Amino acid sequence: MRTVTIFGATGSIGESTVDLIARAPEQYRVVALTGGRNVARLAEQAILLNAELAVTAFDDCFADLKAALAGTGIEVAAGGAAIVEAADRHADLFMSAIVGAAGLPPGLRALRHGTTLALANKESLVTAGPYLLAEAARYGATILPVDSEHSAVFQALVGEDMQTVERVIITASGGAFRDWPMEKLAGATIEQASSHPNWDMGQRITIDSASMFNKAMELIETKEFFGFQPSQIETVVHPESLIHALVGFNDGALMAHLGPPDMRHAIGYALHWPERGHVPVERLDLVKIASLNFRPADEARYPALRIARDVMQTGGLAGAAFNAAKEAALDAFIAGQIGFLDMARLVDEVLNRLQGQNGLSCDILSLDKVLETDHLAREMTQEFVQVTAAR
Ligand code: NAD
Ligand code: MG
Repeated sequence: MRTVTIFGATGSIGESTVDLIARAPEQYRVVALTGGRNVARLAEQAILLNAELAVTAFDDCFADLKAALAGTGIEVAAGGAAIVEAADRHADLFMSAIVGAAGLPPGLRALRHGTTLALANKESLVTAGPYLLAEAARYGATILPVDSEHSAVFQALVGEDMQTVERVIITASGGAFRDWPMEKLAGATIEQASSHPNWDMGQRITIDSASMFNKAMELIETKEFFGFQPSQIETVVHPESLIHALVGFNDGALMAHLGPPDMRHAIGYALHWPERGHVPVERLDLVKIASLNFRPADEARYPALRIARDVMQTGGLAGAAFNAAKEAALDAFIAGQIGFLDMARLVDEVLNRLQGQNGLSCDILSLDKVLETDHLAREMTQEFVQVTAAR
């Protein structure tokens, strides 16, 4: 019996995790579930999984959550601090599935209890990778990657000597606009950017896939988590999204990880790790698939990829600035204040400005420095958004 807590239970990754746990109730005991404004669903999940505690991120949702769970014996709490405190209740595994930089503090707290953190929240590694890994090492905690590409790399590396790895190839679906002519991209709408050809995910990561900011984040995540040099990390557009990543070794062997585009694979791997267990995803029929396609990932079409290279080169606080500027630019795009291509332009401008002002390199990261840079970059992005919107 494993004890599990899910941060971000009501989201896309959270729901997939709940699904796997609900299918094997004899294997898990659920400690805490956290969510946002969707308290009706959070309460349903808490009852379904017989959780000890349900936490909403928002104080004004507390009364509704309490009412929905009245008489069940399930404890209720609200607010960001309560989410972090949920990490103080022991669980063998914490699923980090909150979207955005808000996922960092609860994950960090869980690591400090020396447990296992299944990390879907890529922002944690992008903003504070070296710090997160240092804290995990200090407290004897384990981080398991749950992003599908990183789970694929992790699985391809089992039993391998890291010194023999020459390169890693992270595949990209190309997102909603992979077949659009470049001239049309500037006019792309929120609705058009919010539908993914292969994956069913939360809205923010789906738009990030269309702009390739998601892949940019994943390249940085790869460098931070596995410690590869930026020059070892490649990306290629693979429209079928069946190969999630490949690892190339010094004898020319290329180990590919294939699976259906269903996050329950990577989530299930983390839930069962270090063993493998049954996961109810579709089994691939190679004859039916017949062919797999690959195209270069064009940096002119996807400026986010070039920005990711700059961020990897700079290191230090560049990831925190990059993520915050990207989140603020995405907010502005969703709010209809800026166009699709403005997102990459603004992120680039903010990084250049901050680099010129304070310099973003920094030898030892701390949470304070990360949060301060996050704040600065968000404010600066909002200023640039106002200028862009006024044009
Ligand atoms: P989502 O938007 O579907 O769900 C996000 C969850 O976080 C919800 O439970 C929401 O209530 C909660 N949340 C939102 N803002 C919060 C805040 N400020 N404080 C506390 N909780 C908050 O997102 P998702 O698609 O499930 O993605 C979750 C994370 O996993 C992201 O970091 C994403 O990049 C990563 N990821 C997702 C997928 C996928 O297939 N969806 C794949 C790989 C990685
Ligand atoms: Mg991914």
